[in-house]
Amino acid sequence: MIVRTPWYPEVPEEIAELCRAEGLELLGVTDAAADPEQERVYREWLAQGRHGSMEYLERHAAGKFSPAEIVPGVQSIIFVALNYYQRDRGGEAPSGTATEPDGAAPTDADGAVPIDGAAPIDSGAPPPRGRIARYAWGRDYHKELGKRLKRIARELGRRYPEDSFRAFTDATPLSERHYAEQAGIGFTGRHTLVINGEFGSWFFLGEILSTRYVPPGEPAGIHHGACPRTCARCIDVCPTGALTAPHQIDASRCISYLTIEHRGVIPEDLRPLMGEWLFGCDLCQEVCPLNVRARETDVPAFVRPIAGSRVLLRELLHMRDHESFVDRFAGSPLMRPGWRLMLRNAAIVAANTGAVDLLPDLRASLTIDDAVIREHVNWAIDRLSDK
Ligand code: SF4
Repeated sequence: MIVRTPWYPEVPEEIAELCRAEGLELLGVTDAAADPEQERVYREWLAQGRHGSMEYLERHAAGKFSPAEIVPGVQSIIFVALNYYQRDRGGEAPSGTATEPDGAAPTDADGAVPIDGAAPIDSGAPPPRGRIARYAWGRDYHKELGKRLKRIARELGRRYPEDSFRAFTDATPLSERHYAEQAGIGFTGRHTLVINGEFGSWFFLGEILSTRYVPPGEPAGIHHGACPRTCARCIDVCPTGALTAPHQIDASRCISYLTIEHRGVIPEDLRPLMGEWLFGCDLCQEVCPLNVRARETDVPAFVRPIAGSRVLLRELLHMRDHESFVDRFAGSPLMRPGWRLMLRNAAIVAANTGAVDLLPDLRASLTIDDAVIREHVNWAIDRLSDK
């Protein structure tokens, strides 16, 4: 269940005022105490290889639950959250941006683009698209939330020059989930994400590590609710079995990891399970009953789509270099995987969605001199040729 009106620990008015001025209403403060027991559990998780190829997480182990490893002398952490939820309005490509590859030949009514002399196959089906995780439809939140937090940190630094205030958005080893929960932002759901009583789980987290002591509200407990006793929807819906048990994630199987963080070849047995996901995955949040009261964000940077909720596979398959990818997706979270990996993902989604129309496009992309791309494109061609 989730509480109707969550209770937030009190935050000193000076901090609350600065955050409100930046449009950040959801906030909390916690002591920056180390948690050796959580670090032990985290190191065990690493030892089991659950982090896949994210080797940087091993380097993060010392600071994950020890904020002083990140900012020496840190006393308090000010947490903020920014709602990014928006309804899917059909996944149309953003207006004013290309929906077909630059310089492509004129398309027919179904969007089929003849390339390299290959005749398009006309199946009469709508042009195939891949899904984008909701947080990545608009502008990269690191920039949007980061600039607001930096302004707050700068102002605090001006008022208290003897202290240090460092702003971060997902850019430290710190376990944001753990400390945000301590700060009263929400509680950790069985899908391992923080759930807030008002916004569900659709929000970004950011924080300021402060060497000045900021008293946390009392008690800095959790007053947002809890997962219903028998609910396991997020675990059941996960196509790759990444949620191995309540609060346990095998990141090496998570579609978000596979499509965004993993730089190499995706294990063949996992590819068909990725379905239509081109970038990230929202399934565990979409089925969560605690997201029913999610409210639409009013942050223009998130609402104005860059990638939008779906991207044409053909658009990605026609890109031949990083520059054309930057032209189309600059400012979007899709820049993290970049052109190579998004093309890799597009090949998988083409196969998973039975997009035989894309066979000529896939074959044409075999000219790209990249072993990872060729591996996935050949796999997709094999699967589609069987249809
Ligand atoms: S789907 Fe159910 S078990 Fe999973 S986080 Fe939501 S309420 Fe908790």
